[in-house]
Amino acid sequence: MNQLAKGSCLCKKVRFEIKLPTKWVAHCHCSMCRKFHGAGYVTWVGVENKNIRFTKGADLITWYHSSKEAQRGSCSMCGSNFLFQSQQWPDEMHITLANFDTELDKKPQANAYFSTHVDWMPIDDEIKKIWK
Ligand SMILES: [Zn+2]
Ligand SMILES: [Zn+2]
Repeated sequence: MNQLAKGSCLCKKVRFEIKLPTKWVAHCHCSMCRKFHGAGYVTWVGVENKNIRFTKGADLITWYHSSKEAQRGSCSMCGSNFLFQSQQWPDEMHITLANFDTELDKKPQANAYFSTHVDWMPIDDEIKKIWK
């Protein structure tokens, strides 16, 4: 496995590189993720801030404060929603798995906020339902 993983938004005007390893990979079933991404659930990758580098278009990222402590980042050109930051985890950023263009070191490990999952989306029962 390559030591670096790369990703981008849909229009590729924002590009990033992360140094492996990642911290975790998990599906989030909270209603805010569902609405912001227009999806049944959103798969996030936890990455330490020090391992993230925006190689292109960092100035195109717009941040929406979805709660007092958290903000969600999108590309202002194409509208891709792919970043999350919270004061709850000040040392890490969450990046959507779908926006990676190269392989990562982990598969999804957990279902977060599973108590609020929708019933119209198939669920991977094999992974543990943890994190609320
Ligand atoms: Zn874009
Ligand atoms: Zn969520």
